[in-house]
This record gives sequence, C-alpha cells and structure tokens, in this order.
Amino acid sequence: MAGSEAAWQAAEAGVPVTIHEMRPRVGTFAHRTGSLAEMVCSNSFRSDDDEQNAVGLLHWEMRAAGGLIMEMAHKHRLPAGGALAVDRDPFAEAVTARLRSHPLIEVVDEEVTALPDSGHWIVATGPLTGSALAQAIADEAGQDSLAFFDAIAPIVHYDSIDMDIAWMQSRYDKGETEEERTAYINCPMTRDQYEAFIDALLAAEKTEFKPGETAGYFDGCLPIEVMAERGRETLRFGPMKPVGLTNPHDPTNKAYAVVQLRRDNKLGTLYNIVGFQTKMKYSAQTSVFKMIPGLQEASFARLGGIHRNTFINSPTLLDDQMRLKSKPHIRFAGQITGVEGYVESAAMGLLAGRLAAAEMQGRTLEPVPETTAMGALVTHITGGADAKTFQPMNVNFGLFPPVDARGGRKGRQVRYKMYTDRAKADWQAWLGVRQAAE
Ligand SMILES: Cc1cc2nc3c(=O)[nH]c(=O)nc-3n(C[C@H](O)[C@H](O)[C@H](O)COP(=O)(O)OP(=O)(O)OC[C@H]3O[C@@H](n4cnc5c(N)ncnc54)[C@H](O)[C@@H]3O)c2cc1C
Repeated sequence: MAGSEAAWQAAEAGVPVTIHEMRPRVGTFAHRTGSLAEMVCSNSFRSDDDEQNAVGLLHWEMRAAGGLIMEMAHKHRLPAGGALAVDRDPFAEAVTARLRSHPLIEVVDEEVTALPDSGHWIVATGPLTGSALAQAIADEAGQDSLAFFDAIAPIVHYDSIDMDIAWMQSRYDKGETEEERTAYINCPMTRDQYEAFIDALLAAEKTEFKPGETAGYFDGCLPIEVMAERGRETLRFGPMKPVGLTNPHDPTNKAYAVVQLRRDNKLGTLYNIVGFQTKMKYSAQTSVFKMIPGLQEASFARLGGIHRNTFINSPTLLDDQMRLKSKPHIRFAGQITGVEGYVESAAMGLLAGRLAAAEMQGRTLEPVPETTAMGALVTHITGGADAKTFQPMNVNFGLFPPVDARGGRKGRQVRYKMYTDRAKADWQAWLGVRQAAE
C-alpha cells in the first residue's frame, strides 16, 4: 500500500523511481499473489464518510492529492453501504499495471536485505518485513526500537470518561510536577465489580492466532484474559493493583481493584488502559471494558489487539520529514512507521513520496497541518505519541487538536463536521502552497 502510493506520488512529481518488491520470489504468511498493493485480509478501506469519520476524511485528502490507491479503489468498489469495499484482485492488478506502465517507474522483483548507504530511499516493507532487512533495521535503530508484535491496549477518548467516578493521580503521587503527579486516570472497582469483570473476561470470545503469527509472542506482554486464566487474583496483583491511590470521591473507602489509564498523546485527548492488551473479539471488548466504573460511556479510539507486526519506534527514530534521523537519506512509510490499516499506510506512503520527491528537486515542503487527517497521523508518529508506550494507531479525531463544540449525540455530529471542514480547508491550502512553490 505505502510503497505503491509513494512511488506513484514521487513519479507524478517527476522523479524516477525503482520499486523493490520481494514477492512473488519471497512470500509472507499473509500475501497470496505477486501484485503490488495486495489487501492481505479484509477487502475494505473502511468508512468513506468524509464528514463524520476520520478515515473517510483521509480518503478525501488522498483523493484531493491525486492518490493512486483511492483512485483504483473507487474504480473497483463493491456495494458496501457507507464503506469503501473493493474487488481485491482487480484492484491490486490495476495498481500494479498503472505503476509498471509509468514511464518513470521501474519494478524490480528482489528482496532488499540491508539499509542502503546512499541514494534516496523509502522503506515501506510493512508489518511482514523480510527478516534480513528487519535485522538490519534493528542493528541501525537498536533492538528496543523495532517490534515484531504489537500489544495494543484499548485507547479511550478522554471526553468520554466519567470523571465523577474516576480521578487523576499517579501511584504514590510520584512525580516532580503536578502534571506528573496526576498523570494517570484511575477507575475504582468494588469486590463485586471485580469478580463480575473477571467472569466477563474469561467468558468473552477471543480471536485465535493465524499460523505463522505466534513466534515470540509470550516474551512480550500477556493478554489480560490470559492473566485472568492464570488465577482470579492475578490482575489484582498486576495491572489492576489498588495500591498507592486514594479516591477523592470516596477517600475512606479503599478500592478492591483499580484500572489505570495513561495519557497517550501530547494533546491529552486520548488515554490507553494500562496493561490491557487483549485478544478478545472487538464486540466483546466494548461490552467488557464498559463494565469498568468510569468507562460505562467510553468511546474507544481503538480497541486492543496482539498481532504479528513489524514496526519501528517512530517518535524517537524519525524526524518530521519521516527521515531516519541517523540516516536521513532513508525515509520510512506505511505500517512499519506505527500507523495501522491499509488507508493509513497508503496515506503515509503518499506523504513520504511527496517529501522525498520535493527534497530531490531542491524544494522543502511545509509541515502538513496537524488539523488535517494526514497531518494528525504524521505528527502523532513522529513526536505526538508517547515513545515509551508507542503502539500502532488508526486515524481518529482524538489525534486532532480539539475543536470547540460539545454536548451529546447532536454535538458530536457538529464537532466531527467541524473537524472535517477545518481539515479539508487546511489540506487544500497545503496542497496549494506546495503547487505554488513548484
Ligand atoms: C495478517 C494481517 C492482516 C491485516 N488485515 C488488515 C485489514 O483487514 N485491514 C487493514 O486495514 N489492515 C490490515 N492489516 C494491516 C496493514 O494495514 C496491512 O498490512 C497493509 O497492507 C500495510 O501496508 P504497508 O504498505 O505498510 O505494507 P504492505 O502492504 O505489506 O507492503 C509491504 C510490501 O513490502 C514487501 N517487502 C517486505 N519486505 C521486503 C524486503 N525486504 N524487500 C522487498 N520487499 C519487501 C512485501 O512483500 C509487501 O509487498 C493487516 C496486517 C496483517 C499482517
């Protein structure tokens, strides 16, 4: 996805491009074909609603920028209500044909096994990056900066947390500043609530690992339901331990267990539930997590998961031009940068392609405004996200600087429209600025 879009954007800007693709010579456990832009699982680019949905807005922005992935998705779309679902094989074949026939693009069927020392490169090798290249990236970036699995805890929109029940406090009030001492949101549970929560966790439907997906998984973080299976009290002595905390709403009553949420972005609009990575099915997650007092009305920016997924710690490794700080002739794009999903991956390819082409032509592009879907995503991965807890992220309105509108369901529709109107104007201005600079 990302590589195809990056190549298209750079070539359309007038820069010659070579795509190195290891398939079909070297396969992965998920790909089936030798086509570029193969959709490895679902055939959906998710919501196409560009007024009420952040991923729909990203579609719009990519179309406005002449994106190849969106153009071909539209050509091969299948009826799917408000979603952009596509006929996957003709879609991938059409992307491949368009790229192979572009006069400035060459496609070389070979695996890249090292980080090149010179030239301009975009590494867009995705969640199933070839192992030799992954090793080379780890050698360059440090072993701790490359993950082979995501362990995603659910992320909640701050404004959906009931602060009449929850409160802000770090364990034992640790921290030098008031901000550090109140870095966590705490949700208290009584014994009955805890027991009911454990029952629901154990009973919830889980997803299974796919063949080839499991190696190394237990070295990382255990899913909460696996911890609960090891003993009903395990969570109370792990991520849900109630120690070092006093509930200001009920100071004399000690909670039996406490669920903690930690700030997930600089804006303070998103909080992740600490230690709650899970393999529960999405439908089960929403009902189980809404049993947590304070989260009964929670709106989730993303749900938890654990998958095979190669990605780098972009907030520490990349600059705001998506370049590897230690080797600035190499950019990263796509899922390997810590975005999640076909659309987000392609979007980061679009941006990397434009940035690389501009640099080669002696132009510098203005940073993309954070108020656009594209800008919100790239700002998140290159510095907005907390590097210590960095995990792949879908685009969502929680990544955008807030707009000022509140109040109920109607309020939400108005707010989302404000986000998308602002984004469209700013994205068009950015594209216009770029054209003017050419
Ligand atoms: C099993 C699985 C299921 C997924 N399901 C979905 C889903 O349903 N919906 C969704 O939105 N997202 C899904 N994703 C997440 C992600 O959005 C997709 O994987 C998406 O294709 C990522 O785009 P990308 O461009 O970053 O990587 P890819 O589309 O995987 O492209 C990377 C390309 O680089 C090639 N490559 C890798 N290493 C090398 C190398 N060393 N040399 C040369 N070529 C190399 C690969 O063959 C591949 O063609 C899934 C991921 C996985 C692993």
